[in-house]
Amino acid sequence: MGLDFLPLTAALTGIIAARYLIVSGLAYWLLWQRGGEKLAAKRLNRDRPMRRLILQEIRLSLLSSAVYAAPTAYALSAWLNGGTLIYTDWRAYGGLPYLALSAFAYLVIQDSYYYWAHRLMHHPRLFRWTHAGHHKSRQPTPFASFAFDPAEALFTAWLLPAMVFIIPIHMGLLIGLLMLMTVTAVMNHSGWEMLPARFVHGPIGRHLISATHHSLHHTRFDANYGLYFRFWDRLMGTDAMPKAPEVPQAGRRFAKT
Ligand SMILES: [Zn+2]
Ligand SMILES: [Zn+2]
Repeated sequence: MGLDFLPLTAALTGIIAARYLIVSGLAYWLLWQRGGEKLAAKRLNRDRPMRRLILQEIRLSLLSSAVYAAPTAYALSAWLNGGTLIYTDWRAYGGLPYLALSAFAYLVIQDSYYYWAHRLMHHPRLFRWTHAGHHKSRQPTPFASFAFDPAEALFTAWLLPAMVFIIPIHMGLLIGLLMLMTVTAVMNHSGWEMLPARFVHGPIGRHLISATHHSLHHTRFDANYGLYFRFWDRLMGTDAMPKAPEVPQAGRRFAKT
């Protein structure tokens, strides 16, 4: 390997942690300090976040940063030595159709792996040491987005670094995917629904995991295990979602959720 593994892991720990602190901190400031109403967001959490909870979320997330850094360092140094299937010329593999196909494949594989790993971690024999840390946040804050027990982080951190050895992916797409993972995780744990109800319950949004959807996982524990898509939850009968907000309609009343 061109670069020493340990210094690279240490540097990546810092980068991954900084990414987490910046994006979560920004969301926290926008939603909980300035007030999500200003962004037309809908508050999902009953209570304001407690300092003690936030500190616990940050502590676990910093540990996760180190766990995620190791397989990332491995893949990065392999890439520097030409050993992965990450490419930089977008015309390779036939251009745009492959870019779209590979983006779809990465999302679906990540989502499927996560759904089943997540369900497994909810098994009573595994829950306490793999996933209880993440569920300390009944009303998660943006800082819960990366708050995993080290065992959970180990369970998930290797997937993407392994995939770049198997399925060719454009470097730009990979960076976009990493950004998407960060932003959706922060949004889904923020305690606010930033997306308009029209979208969340609309023809596209109703197939996607939103803050409204994932918040329910943190209060109920027995539904909504998916990462990006509601496909597996629907197929396995674990999908739960509040009704769409009422549309004024004569003679009909919907329960407020
Ligand atoms: Zn869970
Ligand atoms: Zn969560």
